[in-house]
Amino acid sequence: MTAPLIDPFARAIRYLRVSVTDRCDFRCVYCMSENMSFLPKADLLTLEELDRLCSAFVALGVQKLRVTGGEPLVRRGILSFFRAMARHLDSGALQELTLTTNGSQLARYAAELADCGVRRVNVSLDTLDPTKFAAITRWGRLDQVLDGIAAAQVAGLRVKINTVALKGVNEDELFALTDWCAREGHDLTFIEVMPMGDLGGPDRLDQYWPLRDLRARLAERFTLTDLDERSAGPARYVQVAETGQKIGFITPLSHNFCESCNRVRLTCTGELYMCLGQEDMADLRAPLRASADDAVVQAAIRAAIARKPKGHDFDYSRQRVAGQMTRHMSHTGG
Ligand code: SF4
Repeated sequence: MTAPLIDPFARAIRYLRVSVTDRCDFRCVYCMSENMSFLPKADLLTLEELDRLCSAFVALGVQKLRVTGGEPLVRRGILSFFRAMARHLDSGALQELTLTTNGSQLARYAAELADCGVRRVNVSLDTLDPTKFAAITRWGRLDQVLDGIAAAQVAGLRVKINTVALKGVNEDELFALTDWCAREGHDLTFIEVMPMGDLGGPDRLDQYWPLRDLRARLAERFTLTDLDERSAGPARYVQVAETGQKIGFITPLSHNFCESCNRVRLTCTGELYMCLGQEDMADLRAPLRASADDAVVQAAIRAAIARKPKGHDFDYSRQRVAGQMTRHMSHTGG
């Protein structure tokens, strides 16, 4: 049997988050500018290459695969990738196949995703107000996302809502969002924005809403009990006595999960980031394209994991990445 991936700090790597596209059908203000230029197609891993690379990780012991973007469901033919990964669920090698999505395409794909063995989805949703939703996402429509979420429920998918906490934007919806999730049976996680950024312009600092303040507001109305539960990720959870729901909090700068971090991140161009908060990455596309031998790819993965750092160290110059991370930190919570 192949030896599992163990990093220099004795952490077994079990979780891969893979971005399958840099494109998106929304233009959230804290993630993208309105006129984005995207990567040329030749730079992207093909769906077959993504299959080969992810399968190599699974062969090396990765048990959880989270598919992200951009918006993963806007990639043409992406369901064939989910189908390909389903074979690892069937074999038992993969325990979980999941995705983080903006929800816009879920009405179309939820049933098929469920059929591929997906059991949970994380949906990014910052507001239940259609006007605010349009302002935050620029190109999105709230009803399309709500229809997608409803379709996910009908298909039997468990939904986790990821809400970026934005001061002066969704502050007044704290209880509306919490109550809606309780009513609908969705899990809920709040994500703190990075306090700086060029994409958000001068508003960015004004929108910084520390989760400790958000939590204090929740505690004015609810009885919150800290849960010990960890997912080898940065989310901390509380149980709400009055509603029975579990609420997560993700603070991007926290270091509380590094010692148990079991995850790495692969970009749609085949760059492997060994730590969510560090620049160091390994190019896996070159070995993948250079050889049809999976042993070569596996050796490249092992060499990269041998460089996984002990903890993270955020670099504020990476603001675009930071914006995407803010929006899609959910991967780390589940
Ligand atoms: S935050 Fe997500 S939904 Fe919004 S533009 Fe970025 S990738 Fe798209």
